[in-house]
Amino acid sequence: MNARKLLDNYCEEHILNREEILKLLSLPDYDIAALIESAHALRKKYKGNKVHIQLLTNVRSGNCSQDCAYCAQSCRSSADIEKYDRISDEQLFADDLLVKEHSLSRHCIGLSGIHFSDDEIAELAERIKTMKENGTHICCSIGFLTEKQAIMLKEAGLDRINHNLNSSLRFYPQICSTHTYEQRINNLRMLKSIGFELCCGGIIGMGESNEDIADMLLDIREISPESVPINFLLPIKGTRLGDGEHTPLSTAHCLKVLCTARLMLPRADIRCAAGREVYFSGSEDMLFKVVDSIFAQGYLTEKGQGINDTVALIRSLGYDTEIESEVH
Ligand code: SF4
Repeated sequence: MNARKLLDNYCEEHILNREEILKLLSLPDYDIAALIESAHALRKKYKGNKVHIQLLTNVRSGNCSQDCAYCAQSCRSSADIEKYDRISDEQLFADDLLVKEHSLSRHCIGLSGIHFSDDEIAELAERIKTMKENGTHICCSIGFLTEKQAIMLKEAGLDRINHNLNSSLRFYPQICSTHTYEQRINNLRMLKSIGFELCCGGIIGMGESNEDIADMLLDIREISPESVPINFLLPIKGTRLGDGEHTPLSTAHCLKVLCTARLMLPRADIRCAAGREVYFSGSEDMLFKVVDSIFAQGYLTEKGQGINDTVALIRSLGYDTEIESEVH
């Protein structure tokens, strides 16, 4: 069955297989409207008219021992970024208050690095406890935790953990040599067994094939996270991917990935994370037909659009912004 026929006969109960996923990812651009409409029907059914907005605070920045090819925070990167071990309480708690005051969906906090001492996790847990007094929903993007450390954060009130697969098992060694894809999968399984909500997505535009995207999405579907952030590479000078040759992404390709993710995980938050302002500028109406979640500011080392402008954009397109307490 070709992709167009697949969409014409598509029903939600159908579990897309690898071959079908590949057909959707290679759909001709002139047929993309049918794919968007299929994704839009599911977006409307499960997410209504709401767009979740998140704010991201980078709690620890730079000096990471890992060599992820896209990342300005790697110690192998010469990108000109601000580096610090610990953001001030003042800044962190001010950001949390901003989340509360703007009724944003979630406060996402990120820490560079891959391994943490128990003392570092205990300190983070204390800061999470303080922020939870504001009633914000908190997601922490963090490397590999021991089970003991994960429980410490759970007991502090942390709601969700972000740990991305980033790409496929096959492609992963091309982007990172200091840890493995299997380690990421095992970490996610451990976090799920403890009862965390999971946020797990990937990065598009690193030189991967459609097969890699399909395999990554299949693994993400198996993990079944609450949230699936899809990042579109913003090549940063000083990183391996930023300095090399790269083929720019097209908006159509980005949309095909997001639509396919929506069809595969219809109930999950599908988030357009990094790259939204670049790859969807002027195409936000199509974007919001598919995704229900975006960042307003703080892509770790890249600036975002800002909260007020983001809210204004969403409202101008006829969507409401989400208040997390209505969901949880
Ligand atoms: S993506 Fe994470 S683990 Fe990889 S270099 Fe950046 S901060 Fe380190």
